Amino acid sequence: MNSWKDVQKGWGVWGPKFPVIDAHNHLWGDWTQCRGIEKVMDASGVVLYCDLTANISIAWAGGGYEFQTGDITEFFRHSSERFYAFTAATFSRSKTLPLFSDAAQFQEETIRLMREHAALGAKGLKILKELGLHYRDDSGNLIFMDDDRLAPIWEEAADLDIPVLIHQSDPFWFFEPVTPENEHYESLKKYPAWSFADRKRYPGKMELLERRDRTVKNHPRTRFILPHVANYAENLDYVSRLLDDNPNVSIDFSARMDEIGRNPQETRSFMVQHQDRIIFGTDMPVSEEVYRAYYRFLETRDEPIVPPDYDGTFERYRWKITGLELPDEVLKKIYHQNILDLIPSLREPFAKLLEFSGFSQEQQNKAD
Ligand SMILES: [Zn+2]
Repeated sequence: MNSWKDVQKGWGVWGPKFPVIDAHNHLWGDWTQCRGIEKVMDASGVVLYCDLTANISIAWAGGGYEFQTGDITEFFRHSSERFYAFTAATFSRSKTLPLFSDAAQFQEETIRLMREHAALGAKGLKILKELGLHYRDDSGNLIFMDDDRLAPIWEEAADLDIPVLIHQSDPFWFFEPVTPENEHYESLKKYPAWSFADRKRYPGKMELLERRDRTVKNHPRTRFILPHVANYAENLDYVSRLLDDNPNVSIDFSARMDEIGRNPQETRSFMVQHQDRIIFGTDMPVSEEVYRAYYRFLETRDEPIVPPDYDGTFERYRWKITGLELPDEVLKKIYHQNILDLIPSLREPFAKLLEFSGFSQEQQNKAD
C-alpha cells in the first residue's frame, strides 16, 4: 500500500502500486491535448495511453456528438511515444449516413483500411456503439454486430492478429425512461443523445448483448475486448458466464466504477476469479483526480469513494463506492500485464518508457 510518505517520495498523488496502461481512451482528433495528458500521466504513474479512435474526430453539438472521419497519420505525427492507437477503419462515419450500400465493397474497403492502419502501427480495431443503434444500410435497416455482412471483418482481425474492442449497448438505465427515478437521470439530462429509451427507434439492451455474444462465439479465432464490463456491469454473473464460455473475450471496466463499486464484495471475487481477462482503462477526460479515484477503488478498502462521472467530473454521482483492496498479483495484471499479453508489441515501448515514468528502479523491477 502506498502511504502518503511514499506518495511524497514518488509522483504526487496516490500513485498506483504498479505502472499503468490506460487502454481505453479517446483523443477525438484533438492533438493539442497530448502535452497536458502526458503531464497527468507523469503525475499518475500512467506509462501508455490508448487512443481507440485515432481516425475519428468529433464535434459536440446539442447534447450529442457527430463523427468525422479523421486521418490516422495525423495521430502518428502529433502524438508522442506515450500514446498508441486503435483504428475504427470505415466505422468512423457520421451516424446520420448509411454505413454502406454495397456490402461487398464495404467489406473490401474496411479490410484494406485495417491492413493499412495496422501496417502504420495501429494495435487494434475499435467499433463504437453506433453499430446496432444508429448505423443503417441503404434500405434503412439497422446493422447489427451479428450481421453476416460484417463477419469477414471479424475474421480479418484474427488474420491480422489484432484485437477488436467493441462497445455494444450501454448502462441499463440508458434504455429506461428519463425520469427522476432513473439512476442516471442527471447524465441523461446533460447528454440527451445518450438515452435509448425510445423502443420504436432503438433495440433493447438485451437484444444488443445477445447479438454480440453470438458473434464472439461464432468467431473463436478473433480476440474481442468488451469494454465497460462487457456492458453489463449490473450483472456480473452474466459477464462471468460470458468469460467462462468464451476464452477469446477480455473485458475492461472503464467508466463503470460506479456500477461495480456499489457491490464491492461481489466485484472483488469477480475480479480475482477473472484476473487474467480484465484490462484497465478510464474512457473519460483524465485528470490526477480521475486516476486517483481508480487507484483508491482498486487498491484500498476506503469508503466512501466518489466515483467520476462519464465525462471525468465528480458532480452527478447518486451513490458512493467502496474500495476493493485487490491483491498485488491481480493489480499488476489489471494495470498492465493483461493488455501486454493481448498486444505483445507494446512490451518494448512499455519497458523503455518505464525508465522515464517516475517509478523507482525497485518498482520497475516489480513491473516485469
Ligand atoms: Zn470509449
